[in-house]
Amino acid sequence: MTQDQTATQTGWNFDNSYARLPETFFTRQDPVPVSSPKLARFNRSLAAELGLDPEEMESGDGAAVFAGNRIPAGAAPLAQAYAGHQFGYFTMLGDGRAVLLGEQITPAGGRVDIQLKGSGRTPYSRQGDGRAALGPMLREYIISEAVHALHIPTTRSLAVVTTGDKIVRESLQTGAVLTRVAASHLRVGTFQYAAHWAPQDLQTLADYAIERHYPNAAAAENRYLALLQAVIERQAGLIAKWQLAGFIHGVMNTDNMAISGETIDYGPCAFMDAYDPETVFSSIDRQGRYAYGNQPNIGGWNLARFAETLLPLLHENEDKAIELAEDEIRNYHERFHHNWLAGMRAKLGILNAEPEDESLVQDLLAIMQKHGADYTNTFRAFTLGKPEDTPMFGSEGFSQWLELWQSRLGRQREPVTESQQMMRNSNPALIPRNHRVEEALEAAQSGDYSVMERLLSALANPYAYLPEQDEYCSLPAPSARPYRTYCGT
Ligand code: AMP
Ligand code: MG
Repeated sequence: MTQDQTATQTGWNFDNSYARLPETFFTRQDPVPVSSPKLARFNRSLAAELGLDPEEMESGDGAAVFAGNRIPAGAAPLAQAYAGHQFGYFTMLGDGRAVLLGEQITPAGGRVDIQLKGSGRTPYSRQGDGRAALGPMLREYIISEAVHALHIPTTRSLAVVTTGDKIVRESLQTGAVLTRVAASHLRVGTFQYAAHWAPQDLQTLADYAIERHYPNAAAAENRYLALLQAVIERQAGLIAKWQLAGFIHGVMNTDNMAISGETIDYGPCAFMDAYDPETVFSSIDRQGRYAYGNQPNIGGWNLARFAETLLPLLHENEDKAIELAEDEIRNYHERFHHNWLAGMRAKLGILNAEPEDESLVQDLLAIMQKHGADYTNTFRAFTLGKPEDTPMFGSEGFSQWLELWQSRLGRQREPVTESQQMMRNSNPALIPRNHRVEEALEAAQSGDYSVMERLLSALANPYAYLPEQDEYCSLPAPSARPYRTYCGT
């Protein structure tokens, strides 16, 4: 494999702080070259933010770099070790089909991981082939970029390349590699790995996480407690945003929860259509563990696993350490609820707080659930001030609720326009609807990327309320079978 001598020209500017951690946290591993890399999708605006030259990338060796065939100068590829509770069961994992090239230092002075996903086998691959198929990698690209545009913290997608190789799934599929950009790939599972298999290096890992994500915690009297508090704060913010947008992650295993507070690992995720807390899309989530309405509690469960790993650092007395951790987990639930209610007020144009607001929100959700009202479109209709022609809008219960809401808004002194602006900023006009995503992926897999390009450009401005976005607001035709998503593909 050749080292790229033109890194400065294309803009790569790597540092490799993760590779300076104790070796137990990773294995040095180059991506495995593929036959014939071709760019399927490239994120020009993200590239520019990262300090990469979009023209050079597209016309030059971008495809070779994003396929793992060419290692840019300064990169130090490695596969990360981690563990995780998968559907409640603890397992040793690690990057089974991903390689971290290094950390790009951006022109603004930021540091982000550049990771190739689908880049071949690693020592952590277990039975897997280390590869990824085009459909799921484009799906991660579309949904992660849509989540970003919804102002929800997330990893980003820089590029998808096809490899020219076929991979074996239920059928033969087109192989692909996704380039993922993340604040870091430190996971709750990374701490579980350290606590379980490398306790001597746990403190080093915690110090690394503090330095990289929560530098303020370093000055705290108990810096590891401050780390726990900071992670809890971020997750309480993140999961509230998921709930408010109707986003269902689908596999909230502890290895898929980022210490940075970004949404990570887009597998069987999807956005809810009709409001129902029991909504599950993932074909493997038969118990509904990761259903929409369970996400906040699962977040707390995962954070409790995180807190457990930190016990030896929290206090020398174990009972005292447990007490500290338990207090913080309780705080998570409070923080989550606070964020969620504040977000719901914003969705309803409520600018201050009254004690009855929560029941106003809960009553609405109950009415939506009863009538199978579409979550996004209901709030969109409120924002537009136009009732929809749906059973909910025609119902007696809703009319009564509407009066309560109107009188709540009437008690505000601020001009109505302020409420309206708040609603526009809080209620997306569109989300990546499952049927539109599927349609785009189908076309792309048969070589027509235009459907996906149009979808991506609509999804890039979900709060713009542009007339040309209207077509993406319509619901799927009622189908006999519920939508299903698949992971690990
Ligand atoms: P995920 O469900 O994507 O979070 O993956 C769980 C674990 O399985 C991670 O450690 C992945 O790296 C690994 N994995 C998923 N698919 C493959 C594959 N095709 N080959 C090897 N490892 C894989
Ligand atoms: Mg994962």
